[in-house]
Amino acid sequence: MILSINGLEDERFNRPLQLIGNLFFEECSIISDGSEEEAADAVLTFQIQVEDKVKVNLILQDNEGNEYSTEYEKKLQAYVTDKEYFKQQKYAVSHAYLSVLQEWTGVIQKWGILTGMRPTKLLHRHMKAGNSLEAAHKQLKEDYLITDEKIDLMQRIVERQLACVPDLYELKNEVSIYIGIPFCPTKCAYCTFPAYAINGRQGSVDSFLGGLHYEMKKVGKWLKDNDVKITTVYYGGGTPTSITAEEMDMLYEEMYASFPDVKNIREVTVEAGRPDTITEEKLEVLKKWNIDRISINPQSYTQETLKAIGRHHTVEETIDKFHLARNLGMNNINMDLIIGLPNEGVEEFGHSLYESAKLMPESLTVHTLSFKRASEMTRNKARYKVAERSEVEKMMSMAETWTQNHNYAPYYLYRQKNILGNLENVGYALPNQESIYNIMIMEEQQTIIGIGCGAASKFIHPETGKITHFANPKDPKSYNESYELYTDKKLIILNELFNKTESPI
Ligand code: SF4
Repeated sequence: MILSINGLEDERFNRPLQLIGNLFFEECSIISDGSEEEAADAVLTFQIQVEDKVKVNLILQDNEGNEYSTEYEKKLQAYVTDKEYFKQQKYAVSHAYLSVLQEWTGVIQKWGILTGMRPTKLLHRHMKAGNSLEAAHKQLKEDYLITDEKIDLMQRIVERQLACVPDLYELKNEVSIYIGIPFCPTKCAYCTFPAYAINGRQGSVDSFLGGLHYEMKKVGKWLKDNDVKITTVYYGGGTPTSITAEEMDMLYEEMYASFPDVKNIREVTVEAGRPDTITEEKLEVLKKWNIDRISINPQSYTQETLKAIGRHHTVEETIDKFHLARNLGMNNINMDLIIGLPNEGVEEFGHSLYESAKLMPESLTVHTLSFKRASEMTRNKARYKVAERSEVEKMMSMAETWTQNHNYAPYYLYRQKNILGNLENVGYALPNQESIYNIMIMEEQQTIIGIGCGAASKFIHPETGKITHFANPKDPKSYNESYELYTDKKLIILNELFNKTESPI
């Protein structure tokens, strides 16, 4: 699909127009310099006027001679910077653009002009500011064109989050910790996480764990010295249960020795995502260190699908490992399902829900497949047959109905680029079983310190809310060569953020 855009001189419009175009068309090219206009499927002509209002007129002419037009105007709000001034124009242009594309294609974008990852943040902003729900919903609907269905979902999620973490807005002076362990038994086809097949890499694992222990000690000491509490800890990756039971044991021992007040950390989660990594011995280690929130991820209960996506374990193994964990006292288990895996439709997804009902994990996270740029699946897209948009939507609504009927409520959501059907990933939980870490990472109310391989830190200024990203190296070799340097850099940022003056190193 080629869209030719006229009348917008500022190049900063190109990106939002491209992102919204991508919601409608799989391959969408935006031309804004008048070149190749004859090759375009549609020509869109904008007229913008900015006085006390931002006024946008837009006409779309397609190459079959059809014409669609729209007008949008919004009062210009007070602004200080050019960025704020441009943002108002960007929203007005996006509004008109989305409206006309919806009319032309007949496809309604339920998230309106939003293309970002965390829509619920918008609602939290209103709540924090003390705005009425009515005013908040009105703004989401009128300014962003979000549908009532999605506004209702956002509202339910925000309410659950505040019920689960009533002091969510006051946790800015605490931190959460993410620990990245970059190994898996094999690499899944849709995966872009730092995940290296573990077999034959013991040397690399040993060096990596040496670096990780170092980071835990240093970061833990900084937190203790500066009296900064930890809200939650999350072990992810990769698959943190890919390492041996002994290595896990030493890691958690390090956590207790280095981190402040571990007994009062609200939640410690270990992703045991791949059932083929779970053993009785490892579950005993988790129990020994009071870690009772784990993830065991089926993704699908159809064997052929697991094979097609490169997960070398059986459906039975997922079920068996779930029972093993349950019998050994794990009382907070999350399971992930993915909608739209290759060759899966309503029938296969229905089967996955049916099997989930037999296990009733405390939380169920329903992802929609996304074609991430670096994954095997995206590189060889032609090999993987995935469901049409309407079927994906149907599966999503099956998940909604199923969770509701089984007493689960949605408690966090995020969206991704290139996600099938422009849908979302939603975490559902039984009452009081929500993951606090997932809420913290989505709502960006406090700093998350990432340690280990590929771990991304997100530093959030306690006063201004400004976000600074900082990523550790993704591959174990680079990590092993530079973890000391990366740790020092993080401590410097932490000092600045929490206004501490002493040298961190
Ligand atoms: S188990 Fe998770 S981290 Fe490992 S390869 Fe599969 S998707 Fe990636």
